[in-house]
Amino acid sequence: MTSIAELEAHAKMLEARLAKYEASGPSREKIVQMSSEVVDSNPYSRLMALKRMGIVDDYEAIRGYTVVVVGVGGVGSVTAEMLTRCGIGKLILFDYDKVEMANMNRLFFQPHQAGMSKVEAAARTLQFINPDVEFETYNYNITTVENFNHFMDILRTKSLTQGPVDLVLSCVDNFEARMAINTACNELGQVWMESGVSENAVSGHIQLIRPGETACFGCAPPLVVAANIDEKTLKREGVCAASLPTTMGIVAGLLVQNTLKFLLKFGDVSHYLGYNALQDFFPTMAMKPNPQCDDSFCRKRQEEFQEAESRKPKVEAVAVEEKAVIHEDNEWGISLVAEDHQDKQEDQKSPELTQGVKLAYTIPKQRTPSSGEDVSVSDEMSLDDLMQRMKAL
Ligand SMILES: [Zn+2]
Repeated sequence: MTSIAELEAHAKMLEARLAKYEASGPSREKIVQMSSEVVDSNPYSRLMALKRMGIVDDYEAIRGYTVVVVGVGGVGSVTAEMLTRCGIGKLILFDYDKVEMANMNRLFFQPHQAGMSKVEAAARTLQFINPDVEFETYNYNITTVENFNHFMDILRTKSLTQGPVDLVLSCVDNFEARMAINTACNELGQVWMESGVSENAVSGHIQLIRPGETACFGCAPPLVVAANIDEKTLKREGVCAASLPTTMGIVAGLLVQNTLKFLLKFGDVSHYLGYNALQDFFPTMAMKPNPQCDDSFCRKRQEEFQEAESRKPKVEAVAVEEKAVIHEDNEWGISLVAEDHQDKQEDQKSPELTQGVKLAYTIPKQRTPSSGEDVSVSDEMSLDDLMQRMKAL
């Protein structure tokens, strides 16, 4: 039997914890615990209803997962907030940038946070929203040699069980950072998802990359949604990129939806899902890896994947097949980059693309032209052009 004295002591202890909770802000003790009860007082009850309705088998499993968000800008901050509200076990945030007043057209950050590092500001807000979630933040640029090695260590060792993290989400806005994530994840065999919003703010995409199983960024240039407009008329040197909270929020929503499906194993996990805001068009596709990928770790992961597949009984083998898309019309003017269609069989770098999707840039052909053949340099891009394009991803 519990005595009255014991109950009083317990009540005092709870009061003290509550006072601490109210006073100490981000570093306060965790007092909310995930419960599967579907009652109004449980902050997770609506999520647990997913389990009751048979959508998700085991929602509580989310408490055991660690997700890394690289880039806490317009997409990354909203992504982190959604995962926090879903009760993810641990979030690790990377960003080298500070909150600026120019970010206020987006969701999440507030004017009083201007000048703070994005990761610090984000962690404070998110810990207040859900004290159940564990946060770790790194305020640096992952592309420098020293930071890159540290970044790799974090991915390898910082899950809730001191092992590899469960998923890396790329919410960055530049080419180097995407390639750094690609390189790290190929080496570690780490599953990751890429996201991007175009410079004109009216299209975006998400992409799942399983090293060895699906195309990495070295296998083929990244895929972007084809805009139904002449890009030359839009892009002018020195003009600031546009951004819309709607497009950023939609892409963050697509990214987190895919993350939940991947982690909690429900529905179909998208390999590539694009969003064209002007036509409300959502192209999907999947791409196999390129056996001649420049990244040696990608080729190694491909061998491992093939070997694992060959050991599986034939009926269970799951091949990554391109999803059939019903083409009702052809108004998206997909710009397939392969100029020589007869070469497609050999040219692994020009994959068959679904309607509404194009490659972010073209890789110039390496082969030596036979005599009499015209050497076309029209699709070769300078590094500057390339960087310009990639910024828009
Ligand atoms: Zn590759």
